[in-house]
Amino acid sequence: KSKGDGRGVFRFFEAEMDDRLQARRLLEIDLRAAVAAQAFELHYQPIYDLSRDRISGFEALLRWTHPTRGPVSPVEFVPLAEEIGLIVPLGEWVLRQACAEASRWPGNLKIAVNVSPAQFRSAQLISTVREALAETGLAAQRLELEITETVLLANRGATVAILHALRAMGTRIAMDDFGTGYSSLSYLRSFPFDKMKIDQSFIRDLTVENGSGFIVQAVISLGTNLGMTMTAEGVETEDQLARLRAEGCDEAQGYLFSRPVPVSQIAGLLEKWNGAGDVAQAA
Ligand code: C2E
Ligand code: MG
Ligand code: MG
Ligand code: MG
Repeated sequence: KSKGDGRGVFRFFEAEMDDRLQARRLLEIDLRAAVAAQAFELHYQPIYDLSRDRISGFEALLRWTHPTRGPVSPVEFVPLAEEIGLIVPLGEWVLRQACAEASRWPGNLKIAVNVSPAQFRSAQLISTVREALAETGLAAQRLELEITETVLLANRGATVAILHALRAMGTRIAMDDFGTGYSSLSYLRSFPFDKMKIDQSFIRDLTVENGSGFIVQAVISLGTNLGMTMTAEGVETEDQLARLRAEGCDEAQGYLFSRPVPVSQIAGLLEKWNGAGDVAQAA
């Protein structure tokens, strides 16, 4: 091959990089506009209590429909919002909206809200949570904040202090996507979690006899012994559910029960899974 080929390939990558950067910049502009206009929606996915056999709460999941691109995944725009310093106002909107919508549901239902690492470390978090609860009248005990292991990589003392302050208000803390982060097991001794959500990657191949089954079994036993509520994410099949029940898992969440749905569909889900007595008062 001639020397020229390499340069051509390089130019090709350069052009592709430019395209990607350009696309990112455009998305950034649109995201700023969307945050300013609060042009988002929350969808809700049920969390199913395996011992009581009913929906015990919902996780709020952020949705953005881009004016020309259509739906953009939060996996794409949440990290972008973090990078460009928009996660605090965006996360504040999520908290307010989730608390407001949940305050109209039957009083026994919990609401789980994802808190990103930058939002967690922001000085406003605690006052934002307090205000969202006060404004909406939602009982603090019904609010659960989901954080990932990434949060724990930063300053330990500060992290513990924030977790304790949130818990002192009555809100619960869940460790999300457990098993995918970089932290060590030692943090389980020093951090106060109420719940551990086992990442869907461990649940996915639970049905075949491989390492995942033993890991899930061990993690459920570990978390349960530490006093945490154990939740399995990404439950899609009856086989997975049966395995999780047998291992003593407390809660399950996944497409088997429902995909995340707009708030208007919550009453229908409650009627389907919890019976007629447990219907949302308003949509
Ligand atoms: P997550 O908090 O772990 O949320 C669970 C994700 O798994 C959701 O994806 C949900 O739709 C998906 N899921 C649920 N059940 C199943 C299943 O049975 N099979 C499969 N394959 N997937 C399932 P989604 O809504 O795309 O959100 C992705 C991630 O984006 C979330 O992961 C969370 O990290 C982040 N995110 C979403 N909303 C927010 C938010 O309001 N704030 C922040 N900071 N992050 C958010
Ligand atoms: Mg979550
Ligand atoms: Mg998760
Ligand atoms: Mg996840």
